[in-house]
Order: sequence, then structure tokens, then C-alpha cells
Amino acid sequence: MKKKDDIYILDANIFLTGIDFSLFKGIAYTTPSIIDEIRDHRYREKNRNILNKINAAIETNKLRVKHPENKYIEKIIIVSKKTGDFKALSKADKELIALTLELTRKFNRKVTMFSNDYSIENVCSELSVPFLPLYKEGIESKITWQVYCPQCGKIHNVEDLNRLCEICGSKLKRRPKK
Ligand SMILES: [Zn+2]
Repeated sequence: MKKKDDIYILDANIFLTGIDFSLFKGIAYTTPSIIDEIRDHRYREKNRNILNKINAAIETNKLRVKHPENKYIEKIIIVSKKTGDFKALSKADKELIALTLELTRKFNRKVTMFSNDYSIENVCSELSVPFLPLYKEGIESKITWQVYCPQCGKIHNVEDLNRLCEICGSKLKRRPKK
């Protein structure tokens, strides 16, 4: 790895947008469980092109697949319970955030998480890990966000995101409105 290479962590939903991640400047990482989700036999036919891209990127070392160390997974379990996202996150989600945290701690370079999952976003925000969503064109505008207090449950105005709850003082979060 060259000294200045940025690191990108890619969630399954990012691969599935069909983006050409080989054009990213830097090194992409993901976990074995994310690759397994994409390889799932139910979608294998549909995801064939995406899997081809992934295999090519692994062969050229542009994409690295790494399982996070356990201590980082344990940290994510603690933090996601604190933010109220524990139940919303799959095992694969938690491993992906754990890998992000591990690489942030181990390498002195910029590590950015790419995902469209709002619970992952919440936990990354709690850990101060840079996070970028990469929505399929048009999808973002279809989501209506609801801003709420994870502590007392009060629903707030959307403009209040990241402010503090006036009732209990917790930092407000957002979730898609059902
Ligand atoms: Zn509150």
C-alpha cells in the first residue's frame, strides 16, 4: 500500500448499486460476510456482473477482504447498544463497522465507510468515523426521514438532526419514516 492511499470500506448495498468501485482512488476493503451476502445463491444470477467486478478487483489487490479482529467487534456491540442500533444491525453490518474501526486505528490514513444503511451511519457517527452514503439515483429523494430521540423516543423536526433532545439531552438521530 502506498503511503497516501485512502481506504474505503464498502457495504453490500454499495456494491449492489453497480458502481465501478475500481475507479475509487485508494484501496477498498470489505468483510467476508458482505461478499457472502452478494454471493447468496438467491441473487447470484442477478449479481453476476457485480461478482465479476469484485473478483477482478480482488485479483488486482484493489479490493481486500478482511475479517475484523474480535476486540473491534466487541467494541461495536457496546457502541451500537448505546446508540440504540444494536437490533437493527446484522452480524455482517457489525463486522463491517468493526473493520472500519480497526483500519482507522491501525493505519494513519483516511478511512471512509460507504453504506446506505442509516443504523451503520448512526454508529459511525458515534465513533467519529467518516461516512458517505452512495444512493442509487432517485432513491434518496424517496426516503422520508424522521428525527427522533434514541433515549426518550420523542419525535422531533427534521431540521433538529444532530441537535440535543430538549427533554433528556440526548443527541438526536434519524430513521426512515414508515
Ligand atoms: Zn429525549
